[in-house]
Amino acid sequence: MRTLAKTKRLVKKVKANGKTIGFVPTMGYLHEGHLSLVRIARRKSQFVVVSIFVNPAQFSPHEDLAKYPRDMKRDVALLRKEKVDLIFCPSVNEIYPPDYKTYVYVKKLNRLMCGASRPRHFQGVTTVILNLFNIVKPDIAVFGAKDYQQGVIIKCMTRNLNLDIKIIIGKIIREKDGLALSSRNIYLSPRQRKNATILYQALRRIRYDFRQGFSDPRRAKTMMRQMIEKKNGRINYIAVVNKNTLSPVKKLGAGTLIALAVFFGKTRLIDNTIL
Ligand code: AMP
Repeated sequence: MRTLAKTKRLVKKVKANGKTIGFVPTMGYLHEGHLSLVRIARRKSQFVVVSIFVNPAQFSPHEDLAKYPRDMKRDVALLRKEKVDLIFCPSVNEIYPPDYKTYVYVKKLNRLMCGASRPRHFQGVTTVILNLFNIVKPDIAVFGAKDYQQGVIIKCMTRNLNLDIKIIIGKIIREKDGLALSSRNIYLSPRQRKNATILYQALRRIRYDFRQGFSDPRRAKTMMRQMIEKKNGRINYIAVVNKNTLSPVKKLGAGTLIALAVFFGKTRLIDNTIL
């Protein structure tokens, strides 16, 4: 674990030695989902950097920034096991010094889906990711498909700003019963935890129906809504959209993204699948 200045110096050395850098940004409280991304970075680059930074800029005032789960000791032990070369855990002050003023955002895409109810969320994400990219100078960066919209937005930023970084998206890692791994799952009561498996079941149901010839997005949304509400899930959104543009589709087809955000109690979970 290093300070920002030391990290920059080390990155310079690694680059001078001609090694490729693979980067996995996280907010910590690591699970197998994060570690699967680390393993991809390990396979595809010669020097692996993982950042752990709970980014205040991507939380709204009423969200869970203060109580976001943290366990640095455990995270470091897990990353050591994966033979990560550098764990970068900057302080909030290093990333956002008191005179900090610069923000970057990706127009339109940042207002859809998760961005509709979290209007500053993606601006916070792109701002910190661009900053981390400039510190770590990766050749590749690995993100998870669980935050599908985040991946689309980061790819767009990377393309538009001509960052020479290959963005790789790793598949969603799930519990045995289908629930997507998430640092926030620990907030769930045992009952909510059980009910939350409905998210993956609903996604699978639409996949199944699609294979049987079903193609109506409105009906798909209604069916999912009914399944989820029966299990006390409070729907934030269900989106049936093109996987590249994130704009709504008129008919389900190959490449349609079905994404959802649902509250169980106060805990907001996201999940998705591509047909
Ligand atoms: P977070 O710590 O929640 O900011 O996540 C860091 C990275 O891990 C992001 O790229 C997420 O998409 C990814 N991630 C989180 N959960 C999973 C999961 N269950 N499977 C795969 N990747 C994940």
